[in-house]
Amino acid sequence: NSNVFNCPLNPPDALFALAGRYKDDDSAHKVDMSIGAYRTNEAKPWILPVVHKTEELLVNDPSVTHEYLPILGNPEFRKVAAKLILGDKVDLNTVATVQTLSGTGANHMAAVFLRRYTPWGKKSNTIYVSDPTWANHHTIFSYVELDIKKYPYWDAKTKALDFEGMYSTLKKASAGDIVLLHACAHNPTGVDPTREQWEKLASLIKEKELFPFFDCAYQGFASGDLDNDAWAVRMFIDRKIDMLVCQSFAKNMGLYGERAGALHIVLSDATPETKAAIESQLATQSRAEISNPPAFGARIATKILTTPSLFDEWRRDIKTMAERILDMRAELKGELVRLGTPGNWDHLTSQIGMFSFTGLDPKQVDRLVTEFHIYLAANGRISMAGLNKNNVKYVAKSIDTVVR
Ligand code: PMP
Repeated sequence: NSNVFNCPLNPPDALFALAGRYKDDDSAHKVDMSIGAYRTNEAKPWILPVVHKTEELLVNDPSVTHEYLPILGNPEFRKVAAKLILGDKVDLNTVATVQTLSGTGANHMAAVFLRRYTPWGKKSNTIYVSDPTWANHHTIFSYVELDIKKYPYWDAKTKALDFEGMYSTLKKASAGDIVLLHACAHNPTGVDPTREQWEKLASLIKEKELFPFFDCAYQGFASGDLDNDAWAVRMFIDRKIDMLVCQSFAKNMGLYGERAGALHIVLSDATPETKAAIESQLATQSRAEISNPPAFGARIATKILTTPSLFDEWRRDIKTMAERILDMRAELKGELVRLGTPGNWDHLTSQIGMFSFTGLDPKQVDRLVTEFHIYLAANGRISMAGLNKNNVKYVAKSIDTVVR
């Protein structure tokens, strides 16, 4: 046996494997609704025009070099990224921020930190995640041996949020337990709590001394408005709830492969000394794992966030993406209604963000993939960005066929 480690063969990541199958498929009808990456109406990746413009500015700027960033990342990026998600009211002299390998890196950094340090002297190793959640949450948290528990989230019968289930489960959580919350545009369901429900969750979390772990991968993508999508995070801050926030620029700037993101730890009574202590821990972690984060994506984000004309242009680009997706939700639902496809399809337009949880079962999904060359996750999640004016009728007709 040449495998001296005797390590088993892990199955490939289901979603990336699916995207690979799509690539290898030579059908003219094929549709990719697997991975959450924005596509144009021509099914092409989109470099945001504002990003393209910014890249040209950077390439021609003689002060831009390929030197290492500091261990905690680009100092200006850390500040402007924090402001973008946390808002104006937070004193950034008390917020601990580390630049990370996009949102995934932020989740990992946070998980490692929480494994070593728990809030308020409580010794909990438990993290509650929504059922379902982004599949990688399970991988990231189990990898560092956090104890994962689930709270109900998706009600398959109503195709909506099971708020009662979520609330009553969290009510039974212990002080110091971590609660993962999707800041907006919940992945995979596309279903978010209402503002009233968020307020109730904030009260419960404060009362029970739970520690919120916000994962924010879609700011601006959900509603097309950056502030609107940061509402829940900022409401928790207004209520002086200690928490952390994972932030990604993958989707809202289309910087997927550049890995630009940050982790912010926001504590209500923090002082500059608190910030320094936490950042020193994050710096040690980062030094051990990556030494220092990648420079280019963060540089693009910083330039856009600090240049008013570029910032305005970015907001328009975000709107372009959000609105195309809203259009596709309406068109897909419209087609299914027109075809008289069995079932109620209202959830397609009430859900928000990149994804829709269709409610299609694994058999139906399998037929869509194998017979119709329409690639979607086995749990019935579709990335709306894969739809366009040229394929929406075909997708609707195919769904109609497998549902009957
Ligand atoms: N969290 C959630 C909920 C996500 O959907 C994603 C992207 N699929 C991420 C984090 C992280 O993505 P990235 O590492 O590309 O920023």
